[in-house]
Amino acid sequence: MQQTVKSVNYFGCGYCVNNLCRVFKGMHEKRKFPAGVFLIEHSKHGLILFDTGYSEKICKTGIIGRIYNLANPTKVSEQDTIKSQLEKQGIETDKIKYIILSHLHPDHIGGLLDFPKAKIVLSANALDAYRHRSLRQLIMKQFIPKDFEERVIEITKEKTNKTVFDNLKGHDLFDDKSIILVELEGHARGQLCALINHKILLAADSCWGNDLLDISDKMKFPANLIQYNMDDYRKSLEILKQFRKDGIKLMFSHDTYNRKKVL
Ligand SMILES: [Zn+2]
Repeated sequence: MQQTVKSVNYFGCGYCVNNLCRVFKGMHEKRKFPAGVFLIEHSKHGLILFDTGYSEKICKTGIIGRIYNLANPTKVSEQDTIKSQLEKQGIETDKIKYIILSHLHPDHIGGLLDFPKAKIVLSANALDAYRHRSLRQLIMKQFIPKDFEERVIEITKEKTNKTVFDNLKGHDLFDDKSIILVELEGHARGQLCALINHKILLAADSCWGNDLLDISDKMKFPANLIQYNMDDYRKSLEILKQFRKDGIKLMFSHDTYNRKKVL
């Protein structure tokens, strides 16, 4: 039997609220940005998470947490965490074998401590950002397990040998074409996105919403400073448009989805 991804389910794990007028000219809309987590069920490798959402402790992480919360008013309770939501469905945390981390911002790593047995899939560039972190990287070490580096499966450039487009290479995680990891730079160093069954792209923060894809190259100052590299961010937007043109559904981490089952 051919190995494949059997399903992908979506969970919103806390959210922050921001007015789009701070990011885009002429837009006035207070929008909720949920911290999305995707649960992937693979026919051979079992349950895999793509990111881990917010922790309810996000506001209690000292001065950086308070500044973050001031810029990004955040709402998350214990019941919103991915651990609680999985347990409500009868899924124990030990059942998660792998966690793919798109990048190490707090709304993606908040639940990491709740999965001590999972291997962590991360790009070599993101791991390097962790090792040489500065305030600008926004990596809150309170959410990083002590044995983090020992559990990391590092995705290096040498491993990214599968061609997705002419100008884009990816890494076939299980060598069965079910999950192809592609690095879309710009938002954070070494951000990983996951192409699932060649149908959907879990596109992390490469854009903040499907309706914002065509205007995100014109981000206002100082919002554009949130991005690690705006030139790379713009290049990634063009790659996303290429995926969209190919009929791949783009699923961003901070879009709102009404359906739980997305694949
Ligand atoms: Zn981010």
